[in-house]
Amino acid sequence: MADFDPHKNKETIDKDFEEQIRPREFTQFSGQDKITDNLKVFVKAAMLREESLDHVLLHGPPGLGKTTLAHIIAHEMGVGMRITSGPVLDKPGDLAGLLTGLEPRDVLFIDEIHRLSPVVEEYLYSAMEDFTIDIMLDKGPGARSVQISLQPFTLVGATTRSGLLTSPLRARFGIQCHLEYYDASVLLQIVLRSASILQVDIDEKAAREIASRSRGTPRIANSLLRRVRDFAQVKGSGKIDTSITQYALNALNIDKRGLDQMDNKILSTIIHKFNGGPVGIGTIATAVSEEVGTLEEVYEPFLIKEGFLQRTPRGREATKLAYEHIGVFPTENNSLF
Ligand code: ADP
Repeated sequence: MADFDPHKNKETIDKDFEEQIRPREFTQFSGQDKITDNLKVFVKAAMLREESLDHVLLHGPPGLGKTTLAHIIAHEMGVGMRITSGPVLDKPGDLAGLLTGLEPRDVLFIDEIHRLSPVVEEYLYSAMEDFTIDIMLDKGPGARSVQISLQPFTLVGATTRSGLLTSPLRARFGIQCHLEYYDASVLLQIVLRSASILQVDIDEKAAREIASRSRGTPRIANSLLRRVRDFAQVKGSGKIDTSITQYALNALNIDKRGLDQMDNKILSTIIHKFNGGPVGIGTIATAVSEEVGTLEEVYEPFLIKEGFLQRTPRGREATKLAYEHIGVFPTENNSLF
């Protein structure tokens, strides 16, 4: 059976499904209370003053709700939203086209903003700061630039790697929010909400099981719900109960702690091949055939948060919990014990 890999699903995930269940308003967005409480105040204040909202930077691992929050901000402000992403904008002209098409107070959402090219990034500075851009007319010796004014707008930037953002760009965001992984209790609400929108019959225990095995990530919780629904329809009675959920999650190689196959591969590689570490991230990446960036953005934050891995100046180390999880006992020369 093909492994379940929700991280690689973002582009391919069924857009209709995504649209159906994506929260539209703050009231439908569960968790991240501190962030939403603050955003509600800033949105309200901007609306009272009839101004655009200050630029917002959202950072955190994939699938935690950055795009969703951008949609909510636009919806709550009652404005339109244009969506693009860092790698797509390769020329200043692409950005100029987008910026000049914005209506007053619109939201421009740039996903993966850490991947903007330096020339486009520089072009963005004056747009963010005083809502103007310089456009070059003609080429060669006769070239001259004219400054044009833009409508006031809000840039919402999303990134999984805030450390890669240059400081001049980061400094231009008046509002910066770091999204955290979700508790299982919040994910339970998200699973139940999605199930009711999709009209899936699910019992609460089963929903709890899905929530607790979703790596603290709403996108994974929703993807698992869909996959478990498939199993319930084909192998069960159609209703999602605990036994079909456990059957499906085992078939999808999601273990009891919610770790997927790659998480386990990383831990067992550190333990078996590198004696528990410390070992450099580049070496781990080669050993598990994955990119360093993906390990750092997607896998490592969760493994650290759950206490399976620790980052030391000499590299990554497996913790006692990781040994217990993988089911091996440390050797004498492992520094931990
Ligand atoms: P990101 O942009 O951070 O990668 P998204 O905003 O695309 O993540 O979220 C992925 C999916 O998870 C969306 O389809 C959305 O429905 C769901 N989701 C994310 N955060 C929440 C939340 N707090 N409450 C309910 N659903 C959420």
